[in-house]
Amino acid sequence: MRLETTDARIAAAVATVSQAALSRESFPSLSVQVTAVSSFDDLTTLAPNRRTPAAYQRSLGRILVNERVFFDMPENEWVGIIAHELGEYIAACCADCIPEVGALEADLQADYVACLLGFSASLKAGRRDRSGEYHAALDLADDPSAFVQAISRWRDRRLAGLTT
Ligand SMILES: [Zn+2]
Repeated sequence: MRLETTDARIAAAVATVSQAALSRESFPSLSVQVTAVSSFDDLTTLAPNRRTPAAYQRSLGRILVNERVFFDMPENEWVGIIAHELGEYIAACCADCIPEVGALEADLQADYVACLLGFSASLKAGRRDRSGEYHAALDLADDPSAFVQAISRWRDRRLAGLTT
């Protein structure tokens, strides 16, 4: 699986994530375009929150970057954001590629993929509003069953209002 872009502003981040994804043989051999758009104002079905920095557009098989938000994010968070969207793609289109986390919601599967590809530090930087429990779970991606257990516990506690 490779990521491609024609946008020089994000070329380095896209290439970094692409390199990591290429090394995963279980991922499909597909190319995913990463394209920046000026805003998500007309994409409310895709991204109900127009302040979302990026989104995976399933119908066109591409990742969209929201210029109005993405370029305000610190650059060290970019690879985590892009890797998460790649994870959304895999969760939606290639569930067989990550069967070990198939019981989780797509968003958590996507964070798993981002960590599996080695972008946990960047992802955590972008998830600074989440608790230490969440961050600790992200460190367990190399041990899928431990990851699923920890992230499920975090999710249940969060639903109960006990953590963030
Ligand atoms: Zn997501």
